[in-house]
Amino acid sequence: MIQNYIVFLEYLNNKLEGFFNSQKDYIFCKKGCAKCCKNAQFPYSFLELQYLLKGYLQLDKETRDIISQKVDKIKEDKIKSKEDLFRYECPFLINNECSVYNYRGIVCRTFGLMENADNNIIKTPFCCYEGLNYSNVMDNNEISEDKVNKINPKNKPLAFNINHNLLTSEDFERGFNIKFGEKKPLIDWLTNEGIK
Ligand code: SF4
Ligand code: SF4
Repeated sequence: MIQNYIVFLEYLNNKLEGFFNSQKDYIFCKKGCAKCCKNAQFPYSFLELQYLLKGYLQLDKETRDIISQKVDKIKEDKIKSKEDLFRYECPFLINNECSVYNYRGIVCRTFGLMENADNNIIKTPFCCYEGLNYSNVMDNNEISEDKVNKINPKNKPLAFNINHNLLTSEDFERGFNIKFGEKKPLIDWLTNEGIK
């Protein structure tokens, strides 16, 4: 199953590389910018979790211990939190870099692009409101044609079908002979036993 998932990830990475390239006039992602790893729910399927843990197990003991302590702290915060949709900093983020980069989940790979969400809604990444992706063409929370024309981009701003539910749907399961399994926020998967 993991082998087939790796093939799926190669397919996804190729697609995403093309998507990000086509949007490069609006993308400000760079190493060390990890705002998107700091305040989210991080939906993960069971299969994605298995692969992530494979990466985790390859880390040295000291790093694994740091992650384990972060998981404990997030779980404490979650219990105290009154939020329905609890958001947290991903425990795998260390010194603003992903410690399991090659093993990260689907949502970690797609984030930063505009997304075609349900009901034909276009979702812009939150970082556009922090001077990052797509911020150079935003005006009053919408893409401004004028601003787009001024930068004379290679491609117009586009939204892509990168919704997590879609990318983990039965169509992809059938196509790659994989089963994603149950989906839930990453922190809810991470029992102490699971990451030790
Ligand atoms: S998606 Fe936004 S927050 Fe995340 S690395 Fe790119 S610019 Fe930074
Ligand atoms: S797994 Fe890595 S890329 Fe994904 S949220 Fe955590 S630190 Fe960020």
